[in-house]
Amino acid sequence: MRPFSYTRASDVGEAVAALAANDGARFIAGGTNLLDLMKYDVERPEHLIDITALPLDRIENTADGGLSIGAMVRNTDIAYDEQVAARFPLLASAILAGASPQLRNSATTGGNLRQRTRCSYFYDVSTPCNKREPGSGCPAKTGFARYHAILGASERCIATHPSDMCVGLAALGATVRVEGPEGSRSIPFSDFHRLPGDTPQVDTTLAHGEMVVAVDLPGKGFSDHYSYLKIRDRLSYAFALISVAAALDMDGDTIAEARLALGGVAHKPWRNAEAEAAMRGKPAVETTFAEAADIVLAEAETVPGNAFKPELARRTMIRALSQAAAGTPQSQSDKRIQ
Ligand SMILES: Cc1cc2nc3c(=O)[nH]c(=O)nc-3n(C[C@H](O)[C@H](O)[C@H](O)COP(=O)(O)OP(=O)(O)OC[C@H]3O[C@@H](n4cnc5c(N)ncnc54)[C@H](O)[C@@H]3O)c2cc1C
Ligand code: SF4
Repeated sequence: MRPFSYTRASDVGEAVAALAANDGARFIAGGTNLLDLMKYDVERPEHLIDITALPLDRIENTADGGLSIGAMVRNTDIAYDEQVAARFPLLASAILAGASPQLRNSATTGGNLRQRTRCSYFYDVSTPCNKREPGSGCPAKTGFARYHAILGASERCIATHPSDMCVGLAALGATVRVEGPEGSRSIPFSDFHRLPGDTPQVDTTLAHGEMVVAVDLPGKGFSDHYSYLKIRDRLSYAFALISVAAALDMDGDTIAEARLALGGVAHKPWRNAEAEAAMRGKPAVETTFAEAADIVLAEAETVPGNAFKPELARRTMIRALSQAAAGTPQSQSDKRIQ
């Protein structure tokens, strides 16, 4: 690992000013992604600003009936929070499907949003990679691509965003609250992560110097009809090949509102408004879910290493939506330690 300097910030303004003043600085929260990237020589910060002492570790009710989750709340503390578990079980389930208990104990809300892709070429500095070194190439397109994108990818990069929590947050319509040198702003969750285009080195719409301070959930939690279904190479401690967050608001057997977000398919958690609208007012049956899945996958493109994924995604969407409709969420994702 390369030498770096280190300070611990005691308030948000101080942390934001310190980051904005130094292009080579990075925030460090739980450290579960950044430290690995530094050890692999992928990230080379000259200065780390430790933000773990900031007072952003609370989950609070909001005036509109939702919840605000501070950027420093650990993933475990969200999943086990009584309000989250009761009102937003989709989010708890998505978090518990990710990583391991030890990692979730360290990982923070802000760090989870900003974790980088798990593309193996990105981590291997002996290989080209446009995300790590713009213009050097993308070996994943002809190489190992099981975890790679089938939607929204570009010529330059077919990486996926690896978070489970973010797929749940996308389905729930969360908002990311940010503080920066120019003040504060709120970013709809679907605008926070970006597609790779010609600049795959840029993961999000955050400017350098901006800090995630909280993620806000609107009041509606879809707690009666939801499922987070994660398909992976092994049942635990593995990233998603495909994951689906499905949430339904039911009026008898009819779908009043549908939410559908996918992980493991794109550079960002993937939502398709047209597919969600197509389910509205329809019976909650397999043909409705299959039609929605076909809309989502209409523009899917594969490379040799991930040609199996559209069919896997289609089946996973139908199954997750069926589980949500029946009120029988995926039990393998519910790994609470009692
Ligand atoms: C072996 C392994 C398996 C894993 N499996 C999964 C999995 O199955 N599913 C899954 O979802 N995740 C998985 N993870 C990833 C894990 O969830 C992330 O590493 C974690 O969420 C990152 O949070 P952190 O607080 O440790 O971030 P850090 O490593 O501290 O930071 C990550 C990035 O976020 C930036 N950052 C941190 N906080 C803020 C903030 N408030 N504002 C702006 N920028 C900020 C940092 O500068 C850095 O660039 C796995 C990780 C490992 C090591
Ligand atoms: S998919 Fe993206 S991250 Fe992976 S090698 Fe290609 S450019 Fe790099």
